[in-house]
Amino acid sequence: MIDETRLVAGIELGGTKSIALVARGREIVEIARIPTAEPGPTLDALSAQLDAWQGAHGRVEAIGIGSFGPIGLDRGRADYGHITSTPKPGWANVDVVGHVARRFDVPIGFDTDVAGAALAEYHWGAGQGCDVVLYLTIGTGIGGGVVVHGAPVHGLVHPELGHLRVRRAPGDDFAGVCPFHGDCLEGLAAGPAIGARTGMAGADVGDDHPVWALVVDELAEAMAMLMLTLSPRRILIGGGVFQHRQPLLDRIRARTADLLGGYVAGVGVAELSGIIRAPGLGDKAGPLGAVALAYGA
Ligand code: ADP
Ligand code: ZN
Repeated sequence: MIDETRLVAGIELGGTKSIALVARGREIVEIARIPTAEPGPTLDALSAQLDAWQGAHGRVEAIGIGSFGPIGLDRGRADYGHITSTPKPGWANVDVVGHVARRFDVPIGFDTDVAGAALAEYHWGAGQGCDVVLYLTIGTGIGGGVVVHGAPVHGLVHPELGHLRVRRAPGDDFAGVCPFHGDCLEGLAAGPAIGARTGMAGADVGDDHPVWALVVDELAEAMAMLMLTLSPRRILIGGGVFQHRQPLLDRIRARTADLLGGYVAGVGVAELSGIIRAPGLGDKAGPLGAVALAYGA
């Protein structure tokens, strides 16, 4: 159980922006956003912000860091606490936990931003009471966190749900933009892929643009795979692409139901409406994810 009287800090490192905050449970005391620039200056700025807040509110008891990935999570390996093979310029092999640990002598929790978000949804949001909770962000990239019985799934590394390969619509020959895989889910359906497919920024693409039919089908393929592999009670979809396009969720649910073909007992389109949902914590799922990771440190 989380002792919500304890003041903790969180850092969320995102592909385009990063967030520092201090909180008691889900009550955010202070929060600030900065652009994600070079690693050193970005981590310095986030640490300095936490330091300033400690002056105002007292010492934090733990720090949680939710980061874009891939990241090293095995404490027995030299890359623990690092961002590892990211294509984001300058950020590959950056020792994030080491950087923060040199400045703050408190326990540090570390996980992917999406594992943190799934954990926050489990504690405080739409995943409460659910034994298997998935959180997917569809933004600059696609990432997925998996929480089982209140703990993020770690194994060899961590799940990489955004890089699943999905079945394509017949005749769709877009090569995809993932630097590792081309047409994996992220390469097809994240913001930059939608941009490459349409020649427009994601926000400018009309709701009636044909690209959405492709994106809906591709995401439904992934939803069906996740229903079959992990049997989640919730798949919560956050991130910039879907934040303002909630009607697409209905289309994803309907298509997922078609793909499952009635095979998963009791799961039709009505049940999928309860399973595939927007995050209960809205755009605070990521930052509160870092807070949840602090409580687990
Ligand atoms: P990040 O993934 O870097 O944390 P976001 O989750 O905010 O950032 O996602 C940013 C992506 O969302 C960009 O690729 C942007 O083009 C896309 N995006 C923003 N608004 C919309 C919108 N209304 N419709 C579709 N895509 C959008
Ligand atoms: Zn990929």
